[in-house]
Amino acid sequence: MFSIFNKKHPNFSLKTWHWLGCLFGAIAFFLWWLLADHPQWVESFYSLTWYPKLAGFLTGFSFWSPISLHELIIVGLIITALVILISGIFAVIASRNNPKWLSINIVKTLFAEAALAGWVVFIFSVVWGFNYLRQPTENIFELTEMSDQLKRQVMVEGVKQTNGLRQQITENLCSQNANFREQDHSVERVLDQFLTFHELPVINSANSKTFIISDLMKRLGIAGIYNPFVAQPGVTSFQHPIIRPHTIAHERAHLNGFADEDSANLVAYVALWRYGSVEEQYSAWLQFWIATGVQGVRHTDTENAAVEKLSEQVLNDWQCIREYNRQWARLHISKPMWKTYDKYLKATGSKQGIASYRKGEELALQYLSKLPNK
Ligand SMILES: [Zn+2]
Repeated sequence: MFSIFNKKHPNFSLKTWHWLGCLFGAIAFFLWWLLADHPQWVESFYSLTWYPKLAGFLTGFSFWSPISLHELIIVGLIITALVILISGIFAVIASRNNPKWLSINIVKTLFAEAALAGWVVFIFSVVWGFNYLRQPTENIFELTEMSDQLKRQVMVEGVKQTNGLRQQITENLCSQNANFREQDHSVERVLDQFLTFHELPVINSANSKTFIISDLMKRLGIAGIYNPFVAQPGVTSFQHPIIRPHTIAHERAHLNGFADEDSANLVAYVALWRYGSVEEQYSAWLQFWIATGVQGVRHTDTENAAVEKLSEQVLNDWQCIREYNRQWARLHISKPMWKTYDKYLKATGSKQGIASYRKGEELALQYLSKLPNK
């Protein structure tokens, strides 16, 4: 596959997969440009119809895999790119005395790398990525902006719910050791109920996996990743069990076609709040307050006032998670990595980049404000 270089007699004939890679990569970019202005088309012809079938088909493979396929895909891609580069360098060195052959080999190497990137972009877009271009989540769930007063009311109600849920849980959550597989299946049922209620397609045939390189992920500040190439939600093994149902729900929301971070967060919160067990509802609330009170970019007075009303038990759990997370010192590369991810999100259409994680909380409150009081 990579023996494209004939060192002695280089010519400019290229393998079919190179041409196709560049062609399909270009087609993918064209479709992104075309579909960006037509969210309704994406919704009707992709997200609600074709995508669920395709993702269901892909989960048929990853479901049975005993290990997380995520790392294998990443490592496979890196090795492929390196093999192309190294064999290219060898060809360039071998032809260094002939300027014509030298330039042909340089162009061929660049072309081969571009072809690989083209394939990755094309397959990524088709198997999941176009979900970024579906209609805004606000439209799907018919959400509207809230007044400050309404937001305050919903948050006060949220604090009451959080404290009430915590009182119903008698065990010491800090040292809780819930079974990952059970949590995953339970969250799967919760999302099924939620999406069915909203008459949205459900992809139920996936098993979430814990990463092989969980320690590294944790040090990079990554709680979970959805891998669209194998339709596999993945979570670090070192996500505290209290919070884990929310993390699994977030990755499963990606699987169900909610590509951007605010949408996935919204779905995770409200699905668990509406259909989760006491522990699952609490998991979503605790994550909500952590996101609102700690990770948030800006804290409004309303948010600060709400967080202050959380009960001692809730604050203890929060503290417990913080201490648990402290065992994994952040790597220096973590910051530039998140910056890059921010750029990626903005490139795929998110206006706010990683700050959009936080918009999920805002949307979740808007959703709650529409529900009749329990
Ligand atoms: Zn996500």
